[in-house]
Amino acid sequence: MTNIPTVTLADGVAFPELGLGTYKLRGDDGVAAIVAALESGYRLLDSAVNYENEGEVGEAVRRSGIDRDEILVTTKIPGRDHGYDETLASASRSLEALGLDRIDLYLIHWPNPSVGKWLDTWRAMIELQRRGVARSIGVSNFTEPMLRRLAEATGVVPVVNQVELHPYYPQDELRAVHAELGIRTESWSPLARRSELLAEPVVADIAAAHGVTPTRAVLRWHVQLGSTPIPKSADPDRQRENADVFGFALTDDEMAALSGLRRGRLWGGDPDTHEEM
Ligand code: NAP
Repeated sequence: MTNIPTVTLADGVAFPELGLGTYKLRGDDGVAAIVAALESGYRLLDSAVNYENEGEVGEAVRRSGIDRDEILVTTKIPGRDHGYDETLASASRSLEALGLDRIDLYLIHWPNPSVGKWLDTWRAMIELQRRGVARSIGVSNFTEPMLRRLAEATGVVPVVNQVELHPYYPQDELRAVHAELGIRTESWSPLARRSELLAEPVVADIAAAHGVTPTRAVLRWHVQLGSTPIPKSADPDRQRENADVFGFALTDDEMAALSGLRRGRLWGGDPDTHEEM
């Protein structure tokens, strides 16, 4: 079993340096895959209302037999539930779907700027944290101006911003803002959804130099950037491979070479224009 190290979030919570993405993990196979990850040492699970798998995630937590307090369950508020009262109601539905009595990390999934309710949503999340429904509160796909506005308007800075991040899109500017504001970065699609990233010669060369797979080299790059990657895998062997990134280190030149693959987002998920309900 891999022992995944933690960092301390601004709210004092110990937060794993790597977690499991669960998009598309559904049904009995999904539960089994998530249980396998927990058995391999994963302690951070990433779900969302819109993945339609909160039930599977909660079931996996119970079935694993692992102490509930050791596991961090993330879920996310969908765009259709933005607004103060809507968010309070959405949290109740998520708790019921999860079958758990708290959400460990609660995120706004997308800001949906044309709807204009992310600030009201954030105010409700502050209330949910006060009530103990959400232990840590954060956001996903928020831009620098949005993060600064949240902080100015409420005085409460998200502890996490989960954003698209991989060697094709290293998010240098946004990560610098996170460092300034004390926000932990989480990387979604950390393997660039596998795409052609894992076949890039520079990735293969760095992997070979350390005797690891291309996937491990890329995930190690995230860890050294100071971002928590949440690779999704349905396969227990690949899950173990992905978590095995704490026993080697990339050099500064190797880090720079991987960041040098930058070329842009995978599919146009620009939070100023892309909206999800
Ligand atoms: P990803 O983790 O970059 O890539 C997943 C793909 O890589 C799957 O096809 C998986 O296949 C494959 N894979 C995993 N480990 C592998 C390995 N060791 N060797 C070869 N292939 C491997 O992509 P993602 O699922 O888009 O992103 C991860 C998570 O981020 C999601 O599951 C979700 O939780 C979250 N996310 C959040 C947002 C947001 O807006 N906040 C957006 C997108 C994603 P197998 O399953 O067959 O191993």
